[in-house]
Amino acid sequence: MDDCIFCKIAQKEIKSDIIYEDENIIAFDDISPQAPVHVVIITKKHVKSVDFLREEDKAMAAEIVLSFGKIARIKKIEKEGYRIVSNHLESAGQSVFHLHFHLLGGRKMNWPPG
Ligand code: 5GP
Ligand code: ZN
Repeated sequence: MDDCIFCKIAQKEIKSDIIYEDENIIAFDDISPQAPVHVVIITKKHVKSVDFLREEDKAMAAEIVLSFGKIARIKKIEKEGYRIVSNHLESAGQSVFHLHFHLLGGRKMNWPPG
């Protein structure tokens, strides 16, 4: 999609530090990390947010969920723990309107989140 920064990252028109990639997903270090480990996992397909996933996206959605553990192992934080976050719309904190999940770790996480 034109003017979508994450589509441009997926198409490698904008450089990112890629941690993991497969047919449907690309994961890269967040430009403004909120924890020692902060990876953004996006779909290559433009979907606006998690709320816009549909039945036809089932296989891709399963792949995303399975990628979390793979990325945690690449970052070596699977034993200490990590958090997955996906923000839907501005009130939840979404600032890029292309489906993505945050994988955060390397420090103690607070609950409830702000
Ligand atoms: P959101 O606020 O939508 O939940 O998450 C968007 C995330 O993307 C933010 O954590 C932000 O720092 C990150 N981000 C925005 N633009 C870029 C970019 O060009 N490169 C990288 N690596 N991360 C980005
Ligand atoms: Zn996009």
